[in-house]
Amino acid sequence: MLDKLDDLITGTASVDLPDGHFINGGYTKAGKDMIESFDAGRGAVFARFTNGTSSDVDQAVANARTTFQNIWRKTAPVERGRILSKTAALILENLERLAIIETLDCGKPLSEARGDVRGAARCFEYYAGVCDKLQGQTFPLGHDYLGYSISEPIGVTAHIIPWNFPISTAARGIAPALAAGCCVVAKPAETTPFSALLLGEILHQAGLPSGVCNVITGTGLQTGAALVAHPDIGQVTFTGSVATGRNVMKSAADNITRVVLELGGKSPVVVLGDCDQDAALNGVLGAIFENAGQICSAGSRLIIAREIHDEFIDRLVKRAAEISVGHGLSDPQMGPLNSQQHLQKVAGFVDRAKTRGAEVLTGGNITQDPKTGQGWFYEPTIIANRPSDDELVQEEIFGPVLTVQIADDVDHALTLANDCQFGLVAGVYTSNATTAHRLARDIDAGQIYINEYFAGGIEVPFGGNKKSGFGREKGLEALQSYCKTKSVVAKI
Ligand code: NAD
Repeated sequence: MLDKLDDLITGTASVDLPDGHFINGGYTKAGKDMIESFDAGRGAVFARFTNGTSSDVDQAVANARTTFQNIWRKTAPVERGRILSKTAALILENLERLAIIETLDCGKPLSEARGDVRGAARCFEYYAGVCDKLQGQTFPLGHDYLGYSISEPIGVTAHIIPWNFPISTAARGIAPALAAGCCVVAKPAETTPFSALLLGEILHQAGLPSGVCNVITGTGLQTGAALVAHPDIGQVTFTGSVATGRNVMKSAADNITRVVLELGGKSPVVVLGDCDQDAALNGVLGAIFENAGQICSAGSRLIIAREIHDEFIDRLVKRAAEISVGHGLSDPQMGPLNSQQHLQKVAGFVDRAKTRGAEVLTGGNITQDPKTGQGWFYEPTIIANRPSDDELVQEEIFGPVLTVQIADDVDHALTLANDCQFGLVAGVYTSNATTAHRLARDIDAGQIYINEYFAGGIEVPFGGNKKSGFGREKGLEALQSYCKTKSVVAKI
């Protein structure tokens, strides 16, 4: 596939992709209602896939349920671990193909897509090792009693996946669910369905019994809503926007279904006067311009100490203006936004800010791939100091738009950092370890990065506070969402 990258960029070559769901170990036929998938780098259709109906959802859940009862919950944990290990290896064997498809579907630069695929493999590698370590406890009830607990899998879990990190978000939910002994029905986003389908196929190739992992494509309103509302779903892991998360929670409430909500963010990067400015500069740029800012944990608010503001912002603006944009397969520093609708949403935030008198330090416009004049691109954008109640400080833009806030001292930086409805992550750049850990203690966010933004890996629990949601994915903590404790007490 690498040999036809140039033709894929111009749309003169195509990729062979599934057009049905992956249910019970195989692809179904294409449905009657098909959705177009766009290559955002060209703004053109490159494939089609099925809009799942509620009966497709019923079929996927029924298969998962039967397989759970008859096979997967009875499969020895060590065997589950072997299948997950094999999956990790197969993902890596298919790295280039998966990365190219992910880039076509999402728009992101090929190097970033390769990183996402490696990350997905790492999820399976990590959870492969815990399958045979989920233990219960015994309880000290005295001489005449035996009390113990068993960690049991929830049953069938639903995974609703967003479009910004399709394969890694799918992997970070599916891997611990399977490790715990659950069967899965996953629904990728309507603009990025393919890598999740291929992941279902790879799991099957790795030896996962048919029906354990099913992937169903379609819109949120039709397919996603039917899946979340299904009475046989025991747990919903939802990653997406606050508005949809609220609907998912309400719908799950009807069946008393558990939910983990991984929602949006508006994360601060606090840069103090005593920091290593070169490291902070690289960190701030990566935090907002990686994946064109379409990251829940993007560092979209720069809280900068007044004493270094002028020098730091000068350097930052110069570096941002030099960022290359282009079709993801040409591997630029920044790719397009995922859809035309999303591009308009991002542009709307900046256009409204301009009418409020905001100073755009660099960027601030829709643009195209300089080589082809096509695609859905937005310039890397930095907006000068805005007050805390500004829309640019409070709302998630989910694009390459950084808003500056100036702090007079550490306490002021903390106040600014916390003055926001979200609490997903925060970055802190300082050479003073005490200040760093005080900020880590006092900032209300699910995770804090000190002197390196996006530090960490699958080993570290990840999730939000405030409107960023609740529950944790990644790490050993993620397993708790997929397990229930049964206590047994016997009089002997
Ligand atoms: P979205 O909420 O529009 O869609 C997310 C998923 O939900 C899609 O698969 C969609 O089809 C589905 N969906 C939509 N309506 C549904 C419904 N009524 N019932 C069930 N499913 C439904 O979000 P998006 O625009 O695709 O993703 C971007 C958002 O996701 C951002 O807010 C971002 O911050 C958030 N996000 C959070 C994390 C995290 O870990 N906290 C990670 C990635 C993205």
